[in-house]
Amino acid sequence: MTYSRPKGTADIWGKDIAAWRRVEDAIRALCRAFCIDEIRTPMYEYEELFRRGIGETTDVVQKEMFTFTDAGGRDYALRPEGTAGVVRAFIENGMSSLSMPQKLYYIMPVFRAEKPQKGRYRQHHQFGIEYIGAYNPECDAEVISVARELLFKLGIEDVELHINSIGWPECRAKYNNAFKTFLGKNIDKLCPTCRERFEKNPLRVLDCKNESCKALMAGAPTSVDTLDKECRAHFMGVLAALEALGIDYIVDPFLVRGLDYYTRTVFEFKSTSLGAQDTVCGGGRYDGLIAECGGQDTASVGFGMGIERLLLIMEEKGLIKAQTDETGPVFIGYIGYSGKNAGARLALELRRVGIPCEYDIMERGVKAQMKRADKLNAAYSIIIGDDEVETGRVKIKDMRTGEAVEKGIDDVITYFKENN
Ligand code: ATP
Ligand code: MG
Repeated sequence: MTYSRPKGTADIWGKDIAAWRRVEDAIRALCRAFCIDEIRTPMYEYEELFRRGIGETTDVVQKEMFTFTDAGGRDYALRPEGTAGVVRAFIENGMSSLSMPQKLYYIMPVFRAEKPQKGRYRQHHQFGIEYIGAYNPECDAEVISVARELLFKLGIEDVELHINSIGWPECRAKYNNAFKTFLGKNIDKLCPTCRERFEKNPLRVLDCKNESCKALMAGAPTSVDTLDKECRAHFMGVLAALEALGIDYIVDPFLVRGLDYYTRTVFEFKSTSLGAQDTVCGGGRYDGLIAECGGQDTASVGFGMGIERLLLIMEEKGLIKAQTDETGPVFIGYIGYSGKNAGARLALELRRVGIPCEYDIMERGVKAQMKRADKLNAAYSIIIGDDEVETGRVKIKDMRTGEAVEKGIDDVITYFKENN
């Protein structure tokens, strides 16, 4: 009997790990620079949180959640996104008493029961940030700048920032009506899925990938038309703040995004080098969500960025280089019983001070040990036998040049500290 991994999941290992680590290190360094703190929330929450937070009529809640029930009859869902859990944690831990905005980030696996394809998986990873308690347009602009800085830092510069404002729920309701009226007049031109959306959540039609639906949208009313004065001013403020930071944008009047909690600003970064799954980052403002989840009225803004899609772009652009320049470990080989024990002790001492070191624990002969040293691309080797134990001196061989220096066993650590 053999097992395979579930559809739409991946094993990340070997040379891929270096690329993942590079992205994660860049994220952590960037968040430190922006004074954004890390938060880690559970992999699953009560299902109700997502139904309430993300919205009953969204695709994510209706079709994409992995749900399960425990022995006590409680319903849970694997998190399909990061924001709802962070908001729940913010409220539950009383973070509203802290200084605002609370700037939080996460790197987390999220789960969606989608049809797997390139750039679309059932478990994927998101880097996300949430600025909670952030009202001003400058907050939106700073959040957007974090995403952009990361993309640029990783060498991904051919991205477009698409931005729109959908206003408050009242503006949105007005827009919904205007849009629905428009759709009603063109209902026979919609695909079957969109005909269903027309009743439940007409704005989802804007997300439709069907060519005829897309073509129809060219003549549709836009959300900017129905913004009230304050929402319009906020949107203009965001655009001005982006300009102040030197960030280019494209106002996309039909961008509405797939989650219900958004208010006012919505944005996406689209790659011009990815195919169909070209959105690498999506985000926006969610001023009503915290109250909706039982907290005080608190304005917030954030985004989620798909790490797999980031890596796909990097791969396509040749930005993932093999890490051949990394210094290999020190290899400690041995001959005989006393050499084995002295070698084990020396290896532990090197590891204790953080010097990468490999030591044979497979009882190989010395020739086979050296073969392994080669496979590990060892930078140095030391072989300890009876003589070395007796004299207390060893030869440190540089594997690239073949040259060796003799040192006292007790001086080996000092030698590597000075040479690394
Ligand atoms: P899409 O329109 O591609 O389905 P979305 O609007 O569902 O994206 P969000 O909920 O905004 O995506 O998630 C934020 C980011 O997470 C996306 O921009 C994308 O990079 C990534 N992402 C979303 N769903 C998946 C998935 N199934 N597999 C891989 N990455 C994903
Ligand atoms: Mg989606």
